[in-house]
Amino acid sequence: MMARDATIRILVLVLALTAAAILASGCGRGEAPRKADGKLLVIGLDSADWRLLDPMLEAGRLPHLRAFMAEAASGRMKTFYPLEKSPVLWASICTGVTPDVHGIHNFVRGRDERPVTSSAWRAPALWDILTAAGRSTDVMGMWTTYPARPIDGVMVSDFLPYGAKREHPLEALVYPDSLTETLVALRVAPDDLTEEDLARFIPADRVAEAERKYPQDMQHLREIYAADLSYLKVADYLAHHGDPDLFFFYVRGTDMISHNFYAYMTTDREYVHLDPAKVELFKDVVKNYYDWADEAVGEVLSWFPPDRQTVIVSDHGFYGPRRTGRKGTAEHSEWGIFLVRSPLYQAGVKFGHIELLDICPTMLAMMGLPPARDMPGGILLDPATPAGAKRLKKLDKHRVDSYMTLAPASGPEGERDPQVDEEIRRQLRSLGYIN
Ligand SMILES: [Zn+2]
Repeated sequence: MMARDATIRILVLVLALTAAAILASGCGRGEAPRKADGKLLVIGLDSADWRLLDPMLEAGRLPHLRAFMAEAASGRMKTFYPLEKSPVLWASICTGVTPDVHGIHNFVRGRDERPVTSSAWRAPALWDILTAAGRSTDVMGMWTTYPARPIDGVMVSDFLPYGAKREHPLEALVYPDSLTETLVALRVAPDDLTEEDLARFIPADRVAEAERKYPQDMQHLREIYAADLSYLKVADYLAHHGDPDLFFFYVRGTDMISHNFYAYMTTDREYVHLDPAKVELFKDVVKNYYDWADEAVGEVLSWFPPDRQTVIVSDHGFYGPRRTGRKGTAEHSEWGIFLVRSPLYQAGVKFGHIELLDICPTMLAMMGLPPARDMPGGILLDPATPAGAKRLKKLDKHRVDSYMTLAPASGPEGERDPQVDEEIRRQLRSLGYIN
């Protein structure tokens, strides 16, 4: 333990010195970029894919994404192949290392299929590295973060939407615990949603009919939307009660809505056979949900200064129903999205692609922190400005050996509630992720 503490102290010192030297060197006269404050906003849109977004943009939809693209460099994100599950991919986005190193392999584990908890992380995530560097993070909704672990900042775990009927919220749902009551009170329950709320996804005059005829599909829609709305409300609260160095907002619903409703808009695939009456009701749900996600993106962006460095990213793309009929990750595609707005990068340009393991080194570098040598990925350079490329290359040259000593030794145990576990498994089953 003593040796570990000493290594961490040295690493923290190196981090502070490197970051200070590099941030200072980048703000000289002449060609240097406008000094970035090293803060970063990340918006994660699970399974967002240009295959869906491009035609929507061409049709004049997604105005917030369009406006952001004018200020950002954007391109494709090549995810892992074979296609992996979202918790595995997001853990690699957040740690910069492969699954065999970070330790997150699945949604559930063991014969009784208990949801994997935050004690499974074997590598430090961005927020652990930032905490060691004396910088703060607010992260909400990220996979495998229950029980919420202590960080410099706020962690709202991925279990927030579950167990709503319990008398008391689960222990360690939120870190710090002093925020639990406030944030839990912001939760939106599936039953709270009105006909009007649901009318943004299906024809307004047919919501009651849809609820009567297809209660299970409508329940999925309610649960997905309520969870995303809950995290949006939580994010709104947090953004107005602090200004952390990293603000990480994650939308899971874009993936879940796709698993549930993508088939209804891909009836041109000759192997997709669905009840035409049901197709009429649900064919626009996915696109309409992306319209909502675009609004959410606009809202989140509006809480921060217009020059805040921002990344919008997905973990994989979405193809929809396959000829094989297999569901779950089989419906995912290899290409996600990555957009970056920063004085370090050119605005309004397209770049070839970034690979999933490049994301963590790139985000660290944007915050003025060197990546580690044991992170296999590189820093995105294609769309950098000349001065930006100079600074990013310098950070690459100053990589630290490893951040692995910052992996959390242990966290709170949290609380196990068999009903909450079953609630989670039921949802995973509906997505085709588990049997
Ligand atoms: Zn998925």
